[in-house]
Amino acid sequence: MDEHDSDVFILCADHRIHIWSAVKRQGLLLPGRKFDKLSGYGVQIYLAYPRELERDYNWIAHQLRFGTKTFPPVVNRKKRVVLIGHRKCGYYSNIPKRPSEDEEKDDVLRSAETVSRLSHGTMDVEAYYAIRDGGEVFLETLLGSAINV
Ligand SMILES: [Zn+2]
Repeated sequence: MDEHDSDVFILCADHRIHIWSAVKRQGLLLPGRKFDKLSGYGVQIYLAYPRELERDYNWIAHQLRFGTKTFPPVVNRKKRVVLIGHRKCGYYSNIPKRPSEDEEKDDVLRSAETVSRLSHGTMDVEAYYAIRDGGEVFLETLLGSAINV
């Protein structure tokens, strides 16, 4: 693990679902690694809708680029971006849309594709979907993973 590497977690600010606890429990925080947390309502889908959510899209795209400058990916160093979606995200009322679970997952994956495109391959992108499993939240892997879940 290199000290120049850093991770960015992009997750919904909806506190009714304990996504961050699941992030820690499932070991997505890599030991000794710097990370940023970009949290906002529905932030995991902003990058899936550049036109419909232009203002929010521009905000997160800027954050990602700025973050890259703050922790520059020195040659051959990569930044890791982790996007996490969840069921019935209240943010969808802004689109407006009532997506199925599969459509919500597709949106997180579309956001992940946008990150890859914006970063020109300088970021490793992972995507997860938070589901309630009994009392606990479990993160299902949708795309890539630095850990084995
Ligand atoms: Zn949400």
